[in-house]
Amino acid sequence: MTIDDESIAVGGQPGWAGRDLTPLPYESEISCLMRFAWRNAINRAAFLRHFSLSKAHIVLDRQEFLEQTGWNLIGDGRSEVERELQWTQTDWVTRVFRHCPLCLEAGYHSFLFQCLQLQCCPLHHVELSSRCMWCSGTSPQIGGKELLAAPYRCMVCGRPLAGVMPNLDEHLALRAIESGLVRALEPYAEWSNNIHEIAIPRVQGLRRNGCSGDQSTWCDIGEFLRGVACRGMQPPLMCADRATTNVSS
Ligand SMILES: [Zn+2]
Ligand SMILES: [Zn+2]
Repeated sequence: MTIDDESIAVGGQPGWAGRDLTPLPYESEISCLMRFAWRNAINRAAFLRHFSLSKAHIVLDRQEFLEQTGWNLIGDGRSEVERELQWTQTDWVTRVFRHCPLCLEAGYHSFLFQCLQLQCCPLHHVELSSRCMWCSGTSPQIGGKELLAAPYRCMVCGRPLAGVMPNLDEHLALRAIESGLVRALEPYAEWSNNIHEIAIPRVQGLRRNGCSGDQSTWCDIGEFLRGVACRGMQPPLMCADRATTNVSS
């Protein structure tokens, strides 16, 4: 059930729920917004009426969001990866929402999951997926309207992308091991920063001068450039080790 903004207004101001479920380390903005919409049972239209600068696209008024909710989407945690998700062409990240099923069950998605070089969730060691667990349909675009219109759901079959909808107990359990989350993801955040500072400049000339057009018929240019750029800069943990990590222990 969704409720309209009029019904949650208290004294003319909305009384938002979930104020204590603030953004977690390395969390993507869309993950924060989905959790906020989920905990407040608001639909996309109600959300946009309160926080958006633009109704056609989600251009969020982050200052207004901070003042009304206490959730800081502005600050230091924003990364090169998230900035890159705004670019029109990129070889390093995908805009298709890529999730860890266990993290998403806890209402969490990291912007690091959008890095194409990263295959597994550093916390759970399970494979990241850009498909629905029910119908294998492709997940929505991270900057599109679908994820906020139907948080955590597949736009093809309507069922939960992760197999199940998020669970507040799972979310609180993740929040309780926040330091473990930081330990697991920090090396990947450093790695992605190094990629942006060192690896990407290495191949910018290749992308500009040679690797386009005809070459795309015989190789995946993006994969080629990632391979060249990231020589000696592989992600800290390779995914051969698929052991399930008991994060709560
Ligand atoms: Zn995970
Ligand atoms: Zn589906």
